[in-house]
Amino acid sequence: MTEKVRSKIDISLPQSATAGDVWAQFRGVERITMELTQSYKYSLGKVSRFFMELENGRFLATRCAGCGKVYAPPRPLCPNCLAVADWVELSGQGVVKTHSVLHFSPGSNDDVEALETPYVLAYVLLDGADTLFPHLLKATPDQVHSGLRVRVAYSEKPVHHPIHLMYFVPVVERERQ
Ligand SMILES: [Zn+2]
Repeated sequence: MTEKVRSKIDISLPQSATAGDVWAQFRGVERITMELTQSYKYSLGKVSRFFMELENGRFLATRCAGCGKVYAPPRPLCPNCLAVADWVELSGQGVVKTHSVLHFSPGSNDDVEALETPYVLAYVLLDGADTLFPHLLKATPDQVHSGLRVRVAYSEKPVHHPIHLMYFVPVVERERQ
């Protein structure tokens, strides 16, 4: 016979009822740990080239053909002047403007699940860009401060979402150009 309930069930038994407890019959609580797996198609749309070039170790942004503003992460259309942007390649180096230390992983996919806590989420102003790029910075929290020079590093391992083909790492002194 197959199991009808595959979820983990944890029943806490009723606490001993106290006199006058009108909820005495409802103190037994069953908690169920359920697994939810969804498979769906998701388009990376007009900025697909950004993700494809990460596989080639290249970091792309877009530059507005009208006002010249450089967007990283890329935007196909400039929100200021509504001109269509062009692709530009950046060095992938930049500077931390602000950061958060996360002590809890949302575990939203295996890329995130695999991260050891605490980990650092940094907002990086890439050299040549006008916008902040928020992403994982692989560094210990005590290493990170505003003004820290960082660079993009590229993952060699298979990933679930292509954004995890990249992450930031601190620039060590000898790497500075
Ligand atoms: Zn513009």
